[in-house]
Amino acid sequence: MSVIELTFDPSIIEYNNYMTDFENCSSCKNIPKTLMVEKLHTPKRLPKEVSELSTIGGYATDGELRKCQHCLTYYIYHYDHDSESGVGNGYTDEGITRISNAEAKKMLPDLLKSAEASLDYWQKDLDRPASQQFIVSHQKEVTRLQKEIKILK
Ligand SMILES: [Zn+2]
Repeated sequence: MSVIELTFDPSIIEYNNYMTDFENCSSCKNIPKTLMVEKLHTPKRLPKEVSELSTIGGYATDGELRKCQHCLTYYIYHYDHDSESGVGNGYTDEGITRISNAEAKKMLPDLLKSAEASLDYWQKDLDRPASQQFIVSHQKEVTRLQKEIKILK
């Protein structure tokens, strides 16, 4: 009997599987399919594993794309705070939703466009003291998004 040697290439697993093996993941198995908590007036919090997810791109107010580095599952992280100008009670919503690779793939071109637009904006505004910092962070974001597009193509 011959032995076929297999080398592990996570990008191939990711490409072939619509959904990843999050149920057996040491990191993200405790994150539910979708959960939204209100942090300002309730003691409810997202599972601590949400903070272990890597950020790929996007803004948390619109939905930030995150990824588990262990099982490669994608998530949308949402964060929104509104003080209601001191008139209302205000709120701080935080949420997480697990998405399929196909859903992540659909989001990526728009996230890349938005990151490139932000990079462009800050590059035109070099006089502002914070510009350099934003340029570096948006350059990193563009690189991360391009990498994900390549993986999911
Ligand atoms: Zn995971």
